[in-house]
This record gives sequence, C-alpha cells and structure tokens, in this order.
Amino acid sequence: MHKTPRGSRKYVTILGNVNVGKSTLFNAILGQERSIVSDHKGTTTDPVAVSMELIPFGPIVLVDTGGLDDFSPLGEQRIRETRKIVNRTDLILYVIDINSFDEREFTDNVLEFTKKNIPHILVFTKCDKATKETIAALQSRYTEAAFISNNEESIELLKAKIGQCLGKLDKDEETLIGDILPKGSIVVMVVSIDAGAPKGRLILPQVQFIRDCLDHGVKCLVTKEDELESALVSLQKVDLVVTDSQNFKTVERVVPQKIPLTSFSMLLARQKGDMDMYMEGIKAIADLTEGAKILIAETCTHNTSHEDIGRVKIPTLLKEHIGKELKFDFYSGHDFPDKLRDYALVIHCGGCMMNKKGIKTRLEMCQDMGVPVTNYGVILAHLSGILKRCSELFYG
Ligand code: SF4
Repeated sequence: MHKTPRGSRKYVTILGNVNVGKSTLFNAILGQERSIVSDHKGTTTDPVAVSMELIPFGPIVLVDTGGLDDFSPLGEQRIRETRKIVNRTDLILYVIDINSFDEREFTDNVLEFTKKNIPHILVFTKCDKATKETIAALQSRYTEAAFISNNEESIELLKAKIGQCLGKLDKDEETLIGDILPKGSIVVMVVSIDAGAPKGRLILPQVQFIRDCLDHGVKCLVTKEDELESALVSLQKVDLVVTDSQNFKTVERVVPQKIPLTSFSMLLARQKGDMDMYMEGIKAIADLTEGAKILIAETCTHNTSHEDIGRVKIPTLLKEHIGKELKFDFYSGHDFPDKLRDYALVIHCGGCMMNKKGIKTRLEMCQDMGVPVTNYGVILAHLSGILKRCSELFYG
C-alpha cells in the first residue's frame, strides 16, 4: 500500500549484448542480488523489473533484459519481451563491454533509440580490465558516457547521472487536477459500488485522484451516485463533479449545468494520453461499417464481469449507437498488437497501470498506422450525448 504504483514510476531499462555485465550492473544499482550473474552467455531470460527508490530523484522501475544479440533458440522470444519493455521505457542504460566496443553496432542501436524517442546513457562496463589508453580514448569521444569499474564510486556516479536525466524528463509530468482547479476548490467524486467494483477498496484512478487533490489543496468529497443529490445540496459551492464514466447519464441528470462535470478516465486521458487525438478519434464512429474491427485495450488485467466496462458496456453501447454489428478484439496488461491497420478504431482505457511513455508509444503506433484512437471516458461521454459538457473543462 505504501508503494508508488508502477504506472506512476519512470522506467529505466538496461539494454546491451549478452555477457556485457548488464545483470552485474542491475544488481549494483539496486544494491542487492536480484538478477542471476554468471559467465555463461544469456543467463537473463525474461526481463526482470524491480521497483526502487532512486535517491534523490524518487521512485523508478529498474529493468534488466536479455541480450540484444541473443541468437539462442529462445532468443527471438526474449527479444520480443525486451521490445515490449522498451516501448514503455523512459531512459535506456545502453551497456557495452569497453573491451569489445563495436562502433557500427553502437551507431545502429542509438539510431533505434532515437527513432523511438527514448533518451539513453551510454555505459561502458569492465573498465578495470581495460587499458588506460582505451578508457582515455573513449572518454574523450563520449564525454557523457559512464565508465564502470568494479567499485562503488562509479556506480554512484552513474546513479547521479540517471537522476539528472530523469529530472529533466520529469518537468513534463502533468497533474490530474492541480493545473485545472485552484487551491481551495471543492470537488465531488462519484464512485460506483456495483458488482464490478473491487471488494473493500477503490480502483487506482480514484485513489490517484484523491491523492492529486490532497497534493494541490483541493477538497474532495466521495459519494455514490444515489447519494449525489443530497451531497450537492449539503455543500455551499462545488467546483467540479468527477464520476466513473459508466454513470455519466445518471450523474449528468443530477448535476446542475453550472457545475462542470467530467470522469476519471477523461482526466487520466489528458494526463497520460492525448486528449486532442481522442476527441478526433470520436469522428471515426460515424464511418464504422458493418463488421468493422475494433480494438479495445486496457492496461490492467483485472477479472471481467457482466458489468465490465471495456468488454461489455462499451461494445453494447457502441453497437446500439450505430445500429450495426462490430467485431471486437480485447487486449489487456502489457499486450498490444503490432499490426493495427485492420482496425477501424482503437478504444483505450485511462491507462492508470502503465506509465506515460507506454501510453505515448501506443498512440504513436496508432498514428503511424493511420488508425483513429479514442479513450473509454471520451467515448462513453460521446455515447451518452454529453461529450461537449464533459470536455468543457479542458477546452474552456
Ligand atoms: S481499465 Fe485502465 S484505467 Fe481502469 S483500472 Fe484498469 S488500467 Fe486503470
């Protein structure tokens, strides 16, 4: 409970060929043995991800991966798993054994990182086994690189470098509500406690919203939809009502027009995704043909129920809305198809379980393949006929 969720952490991924010292580096940064280290090539199979506190930066996920040049029978599968991790990586530690530096391979790999828009730190390992001349030559060419020897000092220098890089990225981080409402504002949260709600707790977007309110001096009252009317009467002033998207219709009838209304999903869409892209994606609904293929993607792997929003509610409402049969594919967790061109529309959840980089990569994939994409909150507001009202908060 006290841990920062992975979706709110920066991902730092260690990449490099087999046997260049990735797992040794991983363990040294963590300060504990989590990855198996051996002289045998390809000891790390699936990526190993560990949450840690990088002082003074804050919470990160550090990931160790198999080798980029793993040509073993399992290599292809390992490389596929590594690629999935890279898609949500904020910073790459590109590890090279200083004693076998291949400049051409280095240039090709850096080009790949640049294409994916992922910053990297070049890390030369095994420097204690290299000559002074080799180190000096590479130091003068790669002035930003880290040079790791078998000592703590070089690891501490690398950790400081990682913190500096992440610190620069962190400037882009947006809040859910802190830049929309001024300090002292009052928000009412409407939470459904139906059969789809987890027993005894709130879901992550709701928890994150409450925390964001606390961080920004916004007062927050939490209620169920059947108690909303009396909650609004009991408060002298309400600056915003935020609801679960599936209750839009009920809640909209109760909330006076003068009070802005939106959903957790729409706030998350704005924070982690791209609201303009999602609004544009809505236009594709009008062009959906009989039997069109729709991809529904969410980043958690919770159990589904008849009330499940992604698998039942959105498909049912969408088919009713356009009066046609549609084909739906469902992806959850970190699975997301490489080939998107067959889809007429992608509908993505708020993505509270994935970091911003992971969501951004998915949106870029949709854009590159010319596939429209929208979000749970945006489509539910549209299908309820209240998208204009629910997006006024973002567009004024
Ligand atoms: S469906 Fe998406 S936004 Fe909702 S809880 Fe799961 S990961 Fe979070």
